[in-house]
Amino acid sequence: MMPTYARYPVTLVRGAGTRVWDEGGREFLDFAGSLGVNALGHSHPAWLAAVRDQLGMLDMVSNLYATSPQAKLARRLAALMPVPDARVFFCNSGAEANEAAIKLARKRGIALGRPAIVALEGSFHGRTIAALAATGQPGKRAAFEPLVDWFRFVPPGDLDALAAAMTDDVGAVLLEPVMGEGGVRPLEDTYLRDVRRLCSERDALLVADEVQSGVGRCGDWAALHHSGVMADVLTLAKALGGGLPAGAMLARESISFAPGDHASTFGGGPVVSAGALAVLDTIEREHLLARARAIGEMLPVAAVAAAPADAVVEARGRGCLWGFQLPRPVADEAVVAMIDEGVLASAAGPDVVRMSPPLIASDDDVEIAAGAFGAAVAAALAPAHGVSS
Ligand SMILES: *Cc1c(COP(=O)(O)O)cnc(C)c1O
Repeated sequence: MMPTYARYPVTLVRGAGTRVWDEGGREFLDFAGSLGVNALGHSHPAWLAAVRDQLGMLDMVSNLYATSPQAKLARRLAALMPVPDARVFFCNSGAEANEAAIKLARKRGIALGRPAIVALEGSFHGRTIAALAATGQPGKRAAFEPLVDWFRFVPPGDLDALAAAMTDDVGAVLLEPVMGEGGVRPLEDTYLRDVRRLCSERDALLVADEVQSGVGRCGDWAALHHSGVMADVLTLAKALGGGLPAGAMLARESISFAPGDHASTFGGGPVVSAGALAVLDTIEREHLLARARAIGEMLPVAAVAAAPADAVVEARGRGCLWGFQLPRPVADEAVVAMIDEGVLASAAGPDVVRMSPPLIASDDDVEIAAGAFGAAVAAALAPAHGVSS
């Protein structure tokens, strides 16, 4: 395999609920959740039944035909997500959903003479070429420069900088309401409302990348709901498929591709769509938005309390997405130490430990993860670690 991932020393063979097991039968509490995918934990019975039933009913047909799971999912997403009069395009990943959003914004922008897009420093939108060009992280881009020059970057939270960047040639603003890979940074509600107002005043689209923050992750169907802001275009992936690769782009009806503009062979296939519907139904039936919010009240308090004093510079996040800023760039060491403690987490940058627990996590799970985090951070910050000679 190509070494695109620096892997942790674990091979996993089985998962159920909040737990996964390795080859040797060792159990781990999974608070990494496939980087925000497993909102229902692993192999939730409702999701599994929906996927199995659909596999036996109709496995796959092309998008030249309609299927009931896809139509139901589109209707459901259009009703749940903060996009007025939404239409849906289905694809298979976050990067693809953002590619579709960028392509749609470009189509409109080119027609109006406003082809430029403003994005945020520290953002993450995916690894394909246009999504990478929209990603405000120099380290991820450097080897591939020059990238397309459609994007200009402003610091997150700085409304004056955004206003200055939104000149007459700008047709869209792309942002993550809760910036995930860039260290888990929720944007202020007031900032988001001001961005919405600027976009409306200047005829620019507000494009929300909710690939990580959406589908209940932050305690609402979309993180934007927290601010009451509506997007013109919104992208989803990660949690949407419940573990199967699913992506979606929603856009207002007036902003649309025409036949032939865009396509995806696998996008919105019947099995994935049936799984995604089960994810949405289960979140609703089991009141998991409220549960995510409750976890979001407990987890940061417990994790900070379990860590040595001054070991957590800042705890940022909402619902079931949290980043713990460490005083030194030892997030990877801390994540490895958490594995030793039996808990999976992930890093979001060199100095942020991220936890994205399943929305079904129990109070005990939260306490276990917090305890492991505290011990791991203490170990990672001990003098033997992270100090180069
Ligand atoms: C993970 C992520 C992506 C990319 O999704 P892939 O499915 O890995 O292509 C895009 N945007 C955000 C905000 C993400 O967190």
